[in-house]
Amino acid sequence: MPSTVQPRPSILSVEPYVGGESKLPGVNRIIKLSSNEGAFGPPPGAIAAITEGAREAHRYPDGGAHALRAAIGKHHGLDPERIVVGNGSDDLLALLILAYGGEGTELVMSAHGFMMYDLTGRWAGCRVIKVPEKNLVADVDGIIAACGPRTRIVILANPNNPTGALLPQSEVNRLRAGLRDDVLLVLDSAYAEYVDAADYDPGTALVDAGTNTVMTRTFSKIWGLGGMRLGWCYGSAPIIDVLNRVRGPFNVNAAAMAAGIAALAEPGWVEKSVAHNREWRARVSAGLEERGIKAWPSEGNFVLADFGTPEAAKAADAHLRTRGLIVRAMGGYGLPQCLRMTIGTAEECGMLLDALSDFRPPGRG
Ligand SMILES: *Cc1c(COP(=O)(O)O)cnc(C)c1O
Repeated sequence: MPSTVQPRPSILSVEPYVGGESKLPGVNRIIKLSSNEGAFGPPPGAIAAITEGAREAHRYPDGGAHALRAAIGKHHGLDPERIVVGNGSDDLLALLILAYGGEGTELVMSAHGFMMYDLTGRWAGCRVIKVPEKNLVADVDGIIAACGPRTRIVILANPNNPTGALLPQSEVNRLRAGLRDDVLLVLDSAYAEYVDAADYDPGTALVDAGTNTVMTRTFSKIWGLGGMRLGWCYGSAPIIDVLNRVRGPFNVNAAAMAAGIAALAEPGWVEKSVAHNREWRARVSAGLEERGIKAWPSEGNFVLADFGTPEAAKAADAHLRTRGLIVRAMGGYGLPQCLRMTIGTAEECGMLLDALSDFRPPGRG
């Protein structure tokens, strides 16, 4: 029955987000390499903090997230007053887009940028402009040229998901310099910790250089807390003020806050995760190439494997599933010839490469 009540028209142009799958019928052991969740599970201290916090579950959390913001500020050397936490960084991205975008405005993103920008932009009523990439890397000149008088927001994930591409710092700086001052630049640095490039800055320098750039970060990737939904952003005082007006008063729950604080205190967690990722990202990439599959350069905890044709990627996906391996199909990102593969444990990466050794693309016998 059609409804008698209707949302704003732009809402119905949004397809529900489909996350990485986690189940395969008839397969006992699932290896989930579809959501970039970090190779090692949650930090042990975070598990203990979540368990311990259960006793206080009847209490409302601290809506100001003072302890968590202080811990984030200390860990990253940032002023806690200029940090806002959210129910995942998706929460903060949505608040930014709703607050600075909306009907009659444009949001500019890279063609293969993170899908949530497109979904949330359309939800907000923005016209979403996707700028073609050069060799699967964001095109700074193209983005600048795509901005018009109605453009209010430009969002760049650096490194980008799903391509893994990293824009050199000089290019990010050039992007900011090429945008009008009244355009908000959102730097989504969900994978910042994994980056090897020596000149990389996750966004703090550009945030500090003005009032129109904001950086978002997440506990869902290297910190292994995707299920807790915890993200944060760092911005200028006026942007932080806007977010504090529009966010839910208790937008981060008590368990997530306790887990985040404990994760930041986990000895050696980032070092261990980065070292593992560096080794296995290289091994998986080399293993793909040895098997005749292009691996796009990645600075994240995943590799975009390019099978050349949508048919070959589909066949590879089906083949991996018979082995219990779930990776991410990329049709929704306009890359149907690719599969995105998260760097898991050493065993999981080994299983992935073993399975691909037995893969024969369609039409090649
Ligand atoms: C995973 C991811 C996010 C979402 O993070 P949450 O904090 O879990 O909402 C944001 N941006 C990019 C590019 C991501 O890959």
